[in-house]
Amino acid sequence: IILRNITPFKELDTAKTNFIATISHELKTPLASADFSLKLLEDERTGTLTQEQKELVKNLKSDNQRLLRILSELLDLSQVDSGRIQLQNQIFSVKDLIQKAIATTNNAAKEKNINISVALGKELPLLQADEEKTVWVMNNFLTNAIRYSPENGEIIVKAASKDNSVKLSIQDFGIGIDPAYQQKIFDRFFRVPGTQKKGTGLGLAISKEFIEAMKGTVHVESEPGKGSTFTFYLPANS
Ligand code: ADP
Repeated sequence: IILRNITPFKELDTAKTNFIATISHELKTPLASADFSLKLLEDERTGTLTQEQKELVKNLKSDNQRLLRILSELLDLSQVDSGRIQLQNQIFSVKDLIQKAIATTNNAAKEKNINISVALGKELPLLQADEEKTVWVMNNFLTNAIRYSPENGEIIVKAASKDNSVKLSIQDFGIGIDPAYQQKIFDRFFRVPGTQKKGTGLGLAISKEFIEAMKGTVHVESEPGKGSTFTFYLPANS
């Protein structure tokens, strides 16, 4: 039997987590200010741009948004890693949750002319969890559903009461996921090989950790070419 002291590794790991958190945080501020300046440039009141300049600003803005998204995912990840997921336990309605998540993804859905319909079960109990984190997770599932759906697609959001929990699901009719990868997609940085869309492979990993920290579970059902349904359960307020 060989016993090995792993303290130095643990220390290095903590240093890495702190490093990621600090760097992401420091980079976010100038990026957010660049984002604001780009918004001002787009505003006619600060002067008019030629068509080509408008195109340049548009591309810069979308790159900027992508960087901001990656940084906030890295920040969330460092929170998960350091075991410091700070949960604010609240009581909130499923309807509010769904409305908030849909409101933030509305533009992306409109761009692809995707219709999001909502089906709420009868007598839904209130949820007991961290509302902001739950909206984040719902938002992530919806964004994926939009990204991996064809134009003019359909997305169905369902909520139902199940024992002492609430079951929430987001169904799309997009590209679907090969059964071989269905569990792997919840691993950090995993992306299905050949995925065309840009991404980090972090969204689902963070979603799963958030939901499990709130004493819930996450599941996926999917068929290539037919679509996917991401489901999560969260405790109901008793
Ligand atoms: P990202 O989308 O940034 O790559 P995620 O963790 O959100 O990271 O997703 C991991 C992978 O799972 C994606 O790269 C994609 O291949 C696959 N995936 C996630 N959601 C869907 C979906 N609704 N339909 C098809 N594939 C999906």
